[in-house]
Amino acid sequence: MSDPGTAAEIRRCVHCGFCTATCPTYVLLGDERDSPRGRIVLMKDLLTNDAEPSAQVVRHIDRCLSCLGCVTACPSGVDYRQLIDAARVAVDERYTRPWPDRLARAVLAAVLPHRGRFRLALRLAPLGRAFLPLIDRFASARPLAAMLRMASPLVDRRNTVLPIAVPASARCVALFTPCAEPDLRPEIAQATERLLARCGFRVVHVSGEGCCGALVHHLGRESSAHASARRNVDAWETAIARDGIEAIVVTASGCTSEIKRYGSLLADDPAYAARAARIAAMVRDTTEVIAPSDLPHGVRPDLMVAWQAPCSLTHGQRIGDAGQRLLEAAGFSVKTPAEAHLCCGSAGTYNILQSEIAGQLGARKAAALAATGAQVVATSNIGCATQVAMHGGLPVVHVIELVDWASGGPVPPVLAAHLAQTRAASTRAALPA
Ligand code: SF4
Ligand code: SF4
Repeated sequence: MSDPGTAAEIRRCVHCGFCTATCPTYVLLGDERDSPRGRIVLMKDLLTNDAEPSAQVVRHIDRCLSCLGCVTACPSGVDYRQLIDAARVAVDERYTRPWPDRLARAVLAAVLPHRGRFRLALRLAPLGRAFLPLIDRFASARPLAAMLRMASPLVDRRNTVLPIAVPASARCVALFTPCAEPDLRPEIAQATERLLARCGFRVVHVSGEGCCGALVHHLGRESSAHASARRNVDAWETAIARDGIEAIVVTASGCTSEIKRYGSLLADDPAYAARAARIAAMVRDTTEVIAPSDLPHGVRPDLMVAWQAPCSLTHGQRIGDAGQRLLEAAGFSVKTPAEAHLCCGSAGTYNILQSEIAGQLGARKAAALAATGAQVVATSNIGCATQVAMHGGLPVVHVIELVDWASGGPVPPVLAAHLAQTRAASTRAALPA
């Protein structure tokens, strides 16, 4: 049954086309069906007449990054996010994908949101990489090849600096841990804990929380996304009552954007609607939890930083300049790249399922960031950090790592390794032949 709200949202689109120039897939492919306006036309029958989706409709819906650049640009206020979410669910329920696609999606949904399984997959990836020349021969195995190429080595947590102790009476915040981050970049949470401690916060980790649900939501698995939201509401409510938590701090903007929607996602569930809305109102991205004026003074690093604002921050939360303001307050010189509004191609599982388009967007973003002349890229989402690092030569760190460093913490490990390499290369170049 079609939803009247969805039909009204489709009617709200006046086909003006203001959104097309901001849409990464339209900019890249130049096909109207890969623009927001074209996709809304394609979705109409699917969402208002319960039509069976054709392979062509699915192809153009799948190519959407859910970056929400079109939502920011739309003068009519079309809630494109509601439409693309509903379309993905309709496709998931009514369309039978070819089996390699079904398999890839099932593996992603079964592995990525579970930290233990993700860790095991990272451990096994080097074995799989030996078969890449063979895997690359099959077009249907592209998602597997993309997964293997993206899987970075596990990072040893023992190499990182421990957090600062804070009195038990200090104001308390919960630090949410995004699924992939602890195994790929544990230094992000540690820098956040140190910075929060320096600003007078006691940080707790809530047991029972899990994936925010964004990854499965991207795959059109709405009921799994809702189940994740309910589980987290239950876990956080208990901890809030017990520990007096004032805010839930999230280090990945993609997760923050999803959790801030919990109220609307569970609006039809009488047992959760009000509770989910209360939790959503307590969620803060790391870039917004500390006011730039409250930053403690430390070193003032002489470093030029390119600020890569994730779409989930710019379009999903409308606070895209929050990271830049923090960096400037911490003493960094900050540049923003050309086409800053365009997605880097990470977009949840997009860089695995649509690896060709994602690769082109990643290379375009990395080139724009390098053209700023900056020495390091700062972002606020693990997915964007991984994607930009894969396609460019600059070190990519979380904005909070730089702010932590500038206020007394250690140099971010990725930046330290890059600076050491650069120094070694210039020493070698200066040696007589
Ligand atoms: S800008 Fe808004 S109203 Fe105009 S075509 Fe795009 S979605 Fe439709
Ligand atoms: S969400 Fe992004 S990729 Fe999808 S239609 Fe809108 S601008 Fe284009």
